[in-house]
Amino acid sequence: MKFPKVRPSIEKMQGYTPGEQPADIAQWIKLNTNENPYPPSPKCADILKSIDIEKLRLYPSPAGDSLRQTIANTFGVKPQNVVLGNGSDDILSMTFRVFCEAQEEMAMVTPSYSLYTSLAEIQNVNCRQIPLNDDFGLPDDFVAQIQGCKLLMIPCPNAPTGSIFKHATLEAIADVFQGAVLIDEAYADFAEENAIALLEHHPNMIISRTLSKSYALAGLRVGFAIAAPEIIESYMKVKDSYNVGYLPQKIAQAAIEDQAYLKQTCQSIIAERKRAATELEKRGFTIVPSQSNFLFAMPPDGNGKRCYETLKSHKILVRFFPGEVTGRYVRITIGTPAQMDQLLSVVGTSY
Ligand code: PMP
Repeated sequence: MKFPKVRPSIEKMQGYTPGEQPADIAQWIKLNTNENPYPPSPKCADILKSIDIEKLRLYPSPAGDSLRQTIANTFGVKPQNVVLGNGSDDILSMTFRVFCEAQEEMAMVTPSYSLYTSLAEIQNVNCRQIPLNDDFGLPDDFVAQIQGCKLLMIPCPNAPTGSIFKHATLEAIADVFQGAVLIDEAYADFAEENAIALLEHHPNMIISRTLSKSYALAGLRVGFAIAAPEIIESYMKVKDSYNVGYLPQKIAQAAIEDQAYLKQTCQSIIAERKRAATELEKRGFTIVPSQSNFLFAMPPDGNGKRCYETLKSHKILVRFFPGEVTGRYVRITIGTPAQMDQLLSVVGTSY
């Protein structure tokens, strides 16, 4: 059998490695992919129960008009400021197609969300990686370092560190940078502030959001971007025609309408984040100050892999990112207090 030749750039790329999703999930405490330990809003279950199956015979609204309107109402923008994605990864992928021709350059910080490098490789875009300072802050000459790039992708809060970049800094960058600035706010609902208000004065900013974390809907695959209508028009051209299905549109709308539930679950996670950080510090861990739903934690021996393996042997799954800096840490998703107690008891007897 002879297979067709794939593009050389695809042949040589590694591909993004998602976090493990064990089949025997009931056996595990799963703290590796920043999912929410609490269920989605009960309003989502109500929608599922009331769905008319006949509706699935038809294609969904291509732009997701009703959901776009809900997002616009929630964030104080217009529907023309919003584009939907099949998860925010879809938004990130579209962002490359909107702003970067092959061989052009994009910028990202490191450590950060490694999917950006895979998306760049797929589009034949060169990726300029700017190392963060030892405290995971931006280097002073950051703006000079990203000069000439068509796109900057920066998560705030950052992943896997959980730390934030000051909004004044992000604004100063957007003011002078010639390209597009995508602020990946996947974790913004767990942070003290978000960058939505900055959009008004920074036409080159795009903010991406997801329902996978704070709304507890990772399995639904819904994300969205908010930006100037002129930018959103370009996203509309590059997106797949029906990139978000009828069911995800309906369920996402119910979830976003239930802001009270969102706030309540986020508050529980933030409280548990504080407690877990304090308890891990008592056990000799170094914790990066987090404004997300996870902790980037360095065990006392600075050996992230050993910590990951120890926890795994106790059926607790956290995330380990090999590398000179990241390899000293594990990334721990905040679970329920009971789940975190289990983790703390393993850590307490192992260090
Ligand atoms: N951005 C960041 C920084 C993330 O960590 C993730 C989750 N892996 C995503 C975006 C994508 O999330 P989703 O595609 O589920 O919306």
